[in-house]
Amino acid sequence: MAFNIAIDGPAGAGKSTIAKRVSGELGFVYVDTGAMYRAIGLYCVMNNIDISDESAVVGELENIDVDLKYIDGVQCVLLNGENVNGLIRTEEVSRAASVVSGYAPVRTYLVSKQQQIAKNTDLLMDGRDIGTVVLPEAPLKIYLTASSEERGKRRYLQLREKGEECDLAEIIKDIEERDYRDMHRENSPLKQADDAVLIDSSFMTIDEVVAEILRLVEERR
Ligand code: C5P
Repeated sequence: MAFNIAIDGPAGAGKSTIAKRVSGELGFVYVDTGAMYRAIGLYCVMNNIDISDESAVVGELENIDVDLKYIDGVQCVLLNGENVNGLIRTEEVSRAASVVSGYAPVRTYLVSKQQQIAKNTDLLMDGRDIGTVVLPEAPLKIYLTASSEERGKRRYLQLREKGEECDLAEIIKDIEERDYRDMHRENSPLKQADDAVLIDSSFMTIDEVVAEILRLVEERR
C-alpha cells in the first residue's frame, strides 16, 4: 500500500517549502496540486477566457489537458503538453487559479487526476482539499497554517529579496481575500479534516515544522 501524506492550509503558510523538504527526506514524490489549478488559470488568461463566467471556463475543459511530469525530481506541470512552470507564479495567474478552482467541473477533473497519481505512489500532496476530498484515507494529514500577518510578512520579504517593490498592507489584504474565497466557496472549501494534525507555523522555524512532520510520519508508518 502506498503511504500518502496530505498537507492542506491557506496560501503562504509554507506548505510547498515544507512539503519539498519532507518529501526529500523521505524519498517521496511531492505533488503540488495548486500548480494544476494555476495551469487552468493560465490557460484562461492566455486565451482571454472570462474567468468570472463559469460556463465559459467549464466549456474550455475539453480543450485543456493538465498533467504532471518529474524531471530530476522537480515537478513540471504540463498544459496541453507544454511545461508551464515558468508562467504560473504571477499574481494574475494566482487570482485566476483562485477563481476557477471554485467551479465544480474544474475540481472534478483535477481531483480524479490527483487520485490516480496517488494510487500506487508514496507521496506527499499539498493543496486545500487533499485531506478532506482527494485522499480521505491518507494515514497522515497535516493542516498547516500561520496568521495572515505572518504569512504576509514572509511573502513581503520574498518579493523584496527578488527586488520587487511591494506594500505589506496590500499583500496581507490580498492573502485575506484569497483565504476568504478558499474557505467560503461552495465546492470543497478549505477546511481542516477532522483527523488532521494542526500545525501553526507562526512562531516555528521551517526546521521545526519539518522535524515535527517527520516525527508524525515515524509514528504512523
Ligand atoms: O497553492 P496555490 O496558491 O498554488 O494554489 C493556487 C489556487 O488554487 C489557490 O488559490 C486555491 O484556490 C486553488 N487550489 C485549490 N485546491 C487545491 C490546490 C489549490 O482550490 N487542492
